[in-house]
Amino acid sequence: MKYTIFSKGDQKSDSLAKKIRDYLDDFELVYDEEKPDLVVSVGGDGTLLSAFHRYCEQLSSVVFVGVHTGHLGFYADWMPDEIEKLVIAIAKTPYQVIEYPLCEVVVTFNSNREELRYLALNEATVKTLEGTFVIDLEIKGEHFERFRGDGLCISTPSGSTAYNKALGGAIIHPSLESIQISEMASINNRVFRTIGSPLILPKHHTCSLKPVNGPDFLLGIDHLNYTLKDVKELNFRVADEKIRFARFKPFPFWHRVRVSFIEE
Ligand code: NAD
Repeated sequence: MKYTIFSKGDQKSDSLAKKIRDYLDDFELVYDEEKPDLVVSVGGDGTLLSAFHRYCEQLSSVVFVGVHTGHLGFYADWMPDEIEKLVIAIAKTPYQVIEYPLCEVVVTFNSNREELRYLALNEATVKTLEGTFVIDLEIKGEHFERFRGDGLCISTPSGSTAYNKALGGAIIHPSLESIQISEMASINNRVFRTIGSPLILPKHHTCSLKPVNGPDFLLGIDHLNYTLKDVKELNFRVADEKIRFARFKPFPFWHRVRVSFIEE
C-alpha cells in the first residue's frame, strides 16, 4: 500500500507526521505523495479539508484518515497518543471504508467562459461582493423564492455540523445522501419573504441560484474562497463522487456529535 502524510505544517503536526512516517516505513509501506492509496492528515478538520482538495481528483482510489493535534475534530478523530495503534492498524489489518456524500457545484457564465465545477466536503457558501445578496432560488427547475439577505450555505451531511450548524441548520447523518440549504440572515418583512427554514434536498434534486442584483459573487468552497464575475447560474446537487474514510475503530457519528458539542 502507498501512503502519504498531509501535515498542517506547524511544529507539533510536523513532528507527529515524521513519527507516523518512521513507523510506517518500518512496516515497509511505500511513501508516495502523487498517487497514494491512503492519506493520513495530521492537524485538524481544516487540514483534512485541505488534504481533500489536494487529492480531490483521485477520490475513487484514495482513502483518508485524520489525526488531530489540537482538539477533537469531526474528520480528525485520532489522538496523537493513539498513533502506534493507528499505524499497526494501517499496516496489518484490512480496514473498513466508509463513504460520505459531497456537494457538487457547477457555475455557468453569461460570456462564453467554460463552466466551473467544484466539490465541497463541508459546504459551499454564496455571498455578494457588495450590497444585499438577492438571488432567485429554483429547486428541480421550479422557482421557489427570491432570497434577500447575507447569503446562502449549501452543506453536505458531514458538513452539517460546521458552518451550517451555526446558521441553525439541522445535523444530518452522513448515510443520508443529501444537501442542505441554510439561510444567512434573510430579510423577512411584509414585503420580502423567504421560507426561513433550512431545506434538505435528496440526491438528484438540483438547487439553482440565479442572480437578480448583479452577476458577481463570492463563492466559498470549504476553506477556499473564489470571486466569480459575470455568473449566469450556480447549481448545487449531491455529487456522484464520495469521500472515503478508512475506519479502524468504531466512532459512530452521533457519538462524535455528542462528544464534540455536548460533553467529553
Ligand atoms: P478552521 O480549521 O479554523 O475550522 C473552523 C472550525 O470548524 C474548527 O473548529 C473545525 O474543527 C470546525 N469544523 C470544520 N469542519 C467541521 C465539521 N465538518 N463538523 C464540525 N466542525 C467542523 O478553519 P478552516 O480551515 O477555514 O475551516 C473551514 C470551515 O470552517 C468551513 O468549511 C466552515 O464549515 C467552517 N466555518 C464555520 C463558521 C461558523 O461556524 N460560523 C464560519 C465560517 C467557516
